[in-house]
Order: sequence, then C-alpha cells, then structure tokens
Amino acid sequence: MPVAAVWTIWSSNFSTGFGPSTSTSHLGTLTMRYLVLTDIHGNLEALDTCIADATTRRFDATLCLGDLVGYGADPNAVIDRLQALQPLSVVRGNHDKVACGLEQAEGFNAVAKSAARWTFDVLTPEHRQWLADLPEGPHIVDDMIEICHGSPFDEDAYIFDELDAVRALKTSTRPLCLFGHTHYPVTFELAADHFDTVGPAAAGEMRMPLRAESKYLLNPGSVGQPRDGDPRAAYAIVDTATRAVELFRLRYPVEQAQAKIVDAGLPDVLAQRLAVGR
Ligand SMILES: [Zn+2]
Repeated sequence: MPVAAVWTIWSSNFSTGFGPSTSTSHLGTLTMRYLVLTDIHGNLEALDTCIADATTRRFDATLCLGDLVGYGADPNAVIDRLQALQPLSVVRGNHDKVACGLEQAEGFNAVAKSAARWTFDVLTPEHRQWLADLPEGPHIVDDMIEICHGSPFDEDAYIFDELDAVRALKTSTRPLCLFGHTHYPVTFELAADHFDTVGPAAAGEMRMPLRAESKYLLNPGSVGQPRDGDPRAAYAIVDTATRAVELFRLRYPVEQAQAKIVDAGLPDVLAQRLAVGR
C-alpha cells in the first residue's frame, strides 16, 4: 500500500491517544531497563545466548511477548529459563495456546500442527498449565509501554503492512507498543506530521531513540526463529530513562538447536529454516 494512501487514513483523525497520564501504576514513576523477548519457540540455544548478552548490558525486568514454545525442541527448558527470570509481564502467543491444549491447531499448516502436537506431548503438566494461565494481550506495563503478541486490537492478528500498523498505533494506549508474531523486526513511528517504517538493520546492534511527540509500534524480531533472512537471534532492551530501544542480533549455536529438532523427530524443515532465517 502506498504511503500516501495511509496518510489519508490516519491524518483525517489523528490522535496520539496519550497525554497527561492517568495511570496509577507504581512503575510509572520508575526508570527501567526492560529485556524484551518474543517468539522464542522452544529454541534454548538462542534464548540462552540472548539472556547472557543482556545480562552483560544490565536489565531490571523482563517482558515476554509470547510464543515461548512450538517448532523448537526445548519447550520445557525454555519455560524454566523464562520463569527463572521472574518476568514482570508475559502475554500468550498463538502457539502457546495450541501447545497447551487451550485452542485447536485449525489455522496452522501441517508442519506447525505436527510441532504443536509434539510440544503438547512433551510439556510437563505444570508447564502446560502455566501456558494456559498466561494472559491475553495487550497488557499495560507502565506509563510508556504496552505489550501484545500479534496486535493490540487482536492477539492473533499479524501486523505486516502500514495499514495494520496505523490501526494498531491508534488502538495502543501507550507511546511504545511492543509486538511479535511476525518474526520480523520492524518499527513504525506515527507523529502528527509523518509516518515512518524502519525495517531490520544489518548491524548487530542498533539504538533507536524515541521522540516524545511520536507513538511507536515495535517488533524486536524473533529470539528462536527469525524470518527476515538473518539467522541471528533477535532481542531488545527498552531503557525508559534514556527513552531509547536497543536492538540486538546475535549468532548462537544454530547447529545444536538443529540437531535437537532432528533427534526429536520434529519436521526437518524446522531445523533447516534456522540456518537461513526464513
Ligand atoms: Zn511466533
């Protein structure tokens, strides 16, 4: 969709949707460095690499945007790792819902369906219950941030184009809405006089300052199954003191994650795609 067409959609009814805060959240007054993880998909090697890197950079709390499991061979260990971080907010993803038996795999392709069935079988009853208890997004984290899996208007919707991004930005009630689901790192910025899209960067490290007058919709990219042609694991840190998002891409032991997928009897294509980031 041409940008000009998008302009007419949102400029006719522009509202940032935030101003003087009415939130009573105690976190609203704190400055925090949030570790942001999404679409881990049972890839323990990728998750451990991201956590180790984030630890050297310091973070205060963890936010997880869903899809902890499905596709990868380590669903239980991934849940254990995330629980150990004592995350401040976690919302469920579509794979989490199917893998714990909350929903049927109706919308899934054959490969996703077979991985979901495998995951359901190997999950411990405790982990299945923990996934089933995860809240639906969006979830308000503090005065600056809200998180969701797919979009703030529908937890299962995919935000790929600018039309959906504008709808999400108008639905979001915070200056920064973090989302996942597409496994594609992208940032949409909406201000009174412009709309910008920033796609994935080749750099392993990128800092994105957030303008006070803009609203942002940001996908940090997938930890465990990137799909932007870059096989490196992706994660972000949001620093509310400096008002910036730090985006990272990291090499991790892909071969190890692939070998576990093959050994588990999961579809080979799930191992192959990790090498190419598709
Ligand atoms: Zn996902």
